[in-house]
Amino acid sequence: MRKEEVVIIGSGPAGLTAALYTGRANLKPLVISGNQLGGQISITWEVENYPGFPEGSTGPELVERMQKHAERFGAEIMIDEVTEVKFGDGPPFSVKTHGEDIEAQAVIIASGASPKRLGIPGEAEFIGKGVSFCATCDGFFFREKEVIVVGGGDSALEEGLFLTRFASDVQVIHRRDELRANDRLKQRAQENEKIRFVWDTVLEEIKGNGSVESVRLRNVKTEQAEDLGIDGVFIFIGHYPNSELYKGQLTLDELNYVVVDDNMMTSVPGVFAAGEIMDPKYRQVSTSVGQATAAAMMCERWLEDPGAIG
Ligand code: NAP
Repeated sequence: MRKEEVVIIGSGPAGLTAALYTGRANLKPLVISGNQLGGQISITWEVENYPGFPEGSTGPELVERMQKHAERFGAEIMIDEVTEVKFGDGPPFSVKTHGEDIEAQAVIIASGASPKRLGIPGEAEFIGKGVSFCATCDGFFFREKEVIVVGGGDSALEEGLFLTRFASDVQVIHRRDELRANDRLKQRAQENEKIRFVWDTVLEEIKGNGSVESVRLRNVKTEQAEDLGIDGVFIFIGHYPNSELYKGQLTLDELNYVVVDDNMMTSVPGVFAAGEIMDPKYRQVSTSVGQATAAAMMCERWLEDPGAIG
């Protein structure tokens, strides 16, 4: 049994920031990476709005810098996934990974969120065969191909813009006639000649033979349905929190986000949370970093004197 002062679950901006702060407090945090070192930002091509990077940064560059920064102050990053937690009788809290059984005096959860699926026929079947949730990962395979992007938020437009580097044609399929995305992205997408918008339209089925060949679309105003021949389907319709492990152990809200108090503490004293696992509202790298800073500071204070916060 490995014994740690602080275990941080997740290695995105929130996890790495919590690691930096608890590291600087000499707590030698152990960060368990999850299935993607760096989290969602590590598969984001362009980050334009993180303060201090006026020219922008790629997601992987930002993650690498955050990782180095945390490691410089003593954080250890374990490449593994948490398979089970037991918070009930803690501290110590039990955290199991595929490779280790760990006992922690405090835990900071920063396990983030994952892309939502449409839940339509063909979606699961064609993942990796034309259906993707990550333009940065898969865009390259669609050189001179025709693709659609589903969604009308920041992710849909940002990823759609990225896809124009490869694809010959990018149609954004949105269920309404108004975009949710911010004005700058809207303008960039509207000015890009490879991007076209298909309004008031939903995807009902993805079809193909071994790989995606077409999609069934339906206009929600006219109820008219049509088949559209297409090579790739990129889906960006929001996220859900990765909170499955904590069900029954921590208080979750109606959307399964971990509930925290104003000390970033969950319903179990000594277990803190930061980033998209507890934040359905802002979901920016900068807000995750801020939440994690607060969580780490409160964690440090709690370890010193559990009565000091509450
Ligand atoms: P989002 O803002 O929740 O947008 C999801 C989009 O998908 C919406 O347009 C929504 O339509 C649509 N949608 C949801 N469920 C659908 C369904 N079942 N079928 C069809 N369409 C569906 O999600 P996001 O774009 O991933 O962004 C998440 C958060 O990250 C936001 O706070 C965003 O600002 C932030 N973010 C920021 C940046 C940036 O600042 N550069 C980049 C990426 C993400 P409706 O509009 O009709 O609801």
